[in-house]
Amino acid sequence: MFRPAIAAMTGYTPGEQPKPGTPIIKLNTNENPYPPSPKAVEVLRTLDIEWLRRYPDPYAREFCNAVSEALKVPSDWIIVGNGSDDLLNTLVRACAEGSDRKVVYPMPTYVLYRTLSAMQPAEVVEIPYPEDFQLPIDKLIAANGAITFIASPNSPSGHCVPLTDLRQLASQLAGVLVIDEAYIDFAEYSALSLVQEFENVIVLRTLSKGYSLAGLRLGFGIANPKLLAGLFKVKDSYNVDAIATLVGAAAMRDQQYKNTCAEKVKASRAKLTIDLRKLGFTVRDSQGNFVLATPTTSQAEYLYQSLKQRGILVRYFNQPGLTDKLRITVGNDEQNQLLLTNLIDLS
Ligand SMILES: *Cc1c(COP(=O)(O)O)cnc(C)c1O
Repeated sequence: MFRPAIAAMTGYTPGEQPKPGTPIIKLNTNENPYPPSPKAVEVLRTLDIEWLRRYPDPYAREFCNAVSEALKVPSDWIIVGNGSDDLLNTLVRACAEGSDRKVVYPMPTYVLYRTLSAMQPAEVVEIPYPEDFQLPIDKLIAANGAITFIASPNSPSGHCVPLTDLRQLASQLAGVLVIDEAYIDFAEYSALSLVQEFENVIVLRTLSKGYSLAGLRLGFGIANPKLLAGLFKVKDSYNVDAIATLVGAAAMRDQQYKNTCAEKVKASRAKLTIDLRKLGFTVRDSQGNFVLATPTTSQAEYLYQSLKQRGILVRYFNQPGLTDKLRITVGNDEQNQLLLTNLIDLS
């Protein structure tokens, strides 16, 4: 029934999503432990049902205006997606194809880049990060991608790629450079300024992590209108629903609330990092809302399974370079403490 590319590929495996209300501590998919902005919730509660009867605005302009005010970018430099995953999909559809228009990214990183390329299909060049996570710039440039994906902060490593490296990459790549800033709200710096310098750079953001709205499905990209014009041809006309447009706009306008929650997560991240190191884990400093932790002996999969039995979900990746590690989302302090208590118990 399927094209050869689809028959041959492996589908993306999302982290487990137990039903809300299940007594589980969920530290596996980098959701924010705090609720969304009360102002966004209020918009949802008082939504005029007329918004549901009509088709939504294909450009989600109400949301673009809120982004434009918050980030000081012109609203015609913004494209909105049904989560940033939708925009990653649009980018691959628009730019990549076969072996002449490859997709390139350093590894390990977000697995969806591979899945989307396999579907197109477009040839993928995966370039391993060295142990110290310095960006392998020369190899990335030599691979000559029609698209080069860089997640910064990267998942699962948690590191941010220096701006000078991204600038060098942008200036030497002929193809599009996608800087995936899903975790930017927990990071020290952004590469957003590069979109003004380079027509081939797009910065992607999401409301799933920093704004506690993963269930709403809302993400956006910022780039020169020349780059956006091609993407607008490819995206679904009604990719963002009316509810997401309005609720997302209210969340975006409440930067103060988002920043307060992000500060709490960052403080908990610092504490969790120290506490895990005290237990003997090797933990990288992270700029995301998660940490990548290596237990002393190769017991990562055992710990993942045992924690799961105890009602605590973390992420285990059965992938080269990651089989001895766990990616743990930073929860609130109570959740993190329960994780630690259980880890002590298991050791
Ligand atoms: C979570 C995540 C996304 C997806 O975000 P959505 O807006 O929920 O689709 C994209 N990229 C990276 C690196 C992520 O971790």
